[in-house]
Amino acid sequence: MTHQPIPDGPDRTPGPPKPSSANGTRPSPGLLVAHENPALNPTVRQAVDLDGGQRVVDLDAAERAAADFLAALGIDLDREDRRATPARMAHAYAELLAAEPFRLTTFRNDEGYDELVLARAIPFRTLCEHHMLLFSGVAHVGYLPGERILGLSKLARLVEHFAARPQTQERLTMQVAKCLDANLRPRGVGVVMEAEHTCMTQRGVRALGATTVTSALLGTLRTDPRSRAEFFALARVPSPAAG
Ligand SMILES: [Zn+2]
Repeated sequence: MTHQPIPDGPDRTPGPPKPSSANGTRPSPGLLVAHENPALNPTVRQAVDLDGGQRVVDLDAAERAAADFLAALGIDLDREDRRATPARMAHAYAELLAAEPFRLTTFRNDEGYDELVLARAIPFRTLCEHHMLLFSGVAHVGYLPGERILGLSKLARLVEHFAARPQTQERLTMQVAKCLDANLRPRGVGVVMEAEHTCMTQRGVRALGATTVTSALLGTLRTDPRSRAEFFALARVPSPAAG
């Protein structure tokens, strides 16, 4: 089998919102974010990211590499219980890096709802790009609606989508905020993430129980102190502004 290079392009966040059409704001029609290409070898999967990046997943190659990696660490793979470990490792990492397809469905804000919409404590897990170890926690994602509102499950889908790649918590937080801003054009966006990084709690300094908090605020939630305070209060996170 030939192996294609893996163009796991830079983690680009969506660009700034495009200009509105003459008859009003018209968000993009929805983003299809992953598909399988049946023409490829079944163990080679192609994922298309929401932001256009492409990755080729070759499970056979990943399994061979996992076997080499473990052998290089002196781990005996000839034991009965460990024969399938490289394959399990390859599948486990592929699963951690696989985003489900979804569309960022939006609806007209017919009722003119103008208060904060907030999804609290969305669980997520991802891999830190520095160690390829898990970090996990919760995300609080909110927005102040403009002309469109979003299907509520999409806030969780958005977090899940950007978590399915090697990440830093700072970038993940910004990507969720910017994608929401670019596709929904709300008056404001707020994202707070609280996570435990196993590369920090289980190795290195072993700071057990330490969590990392990041936040991204855009639009009114960034510029208006009252909106900002309300967002942090509803997310039940101490406001950095309030000290
Ligand atoms: Zn790390």
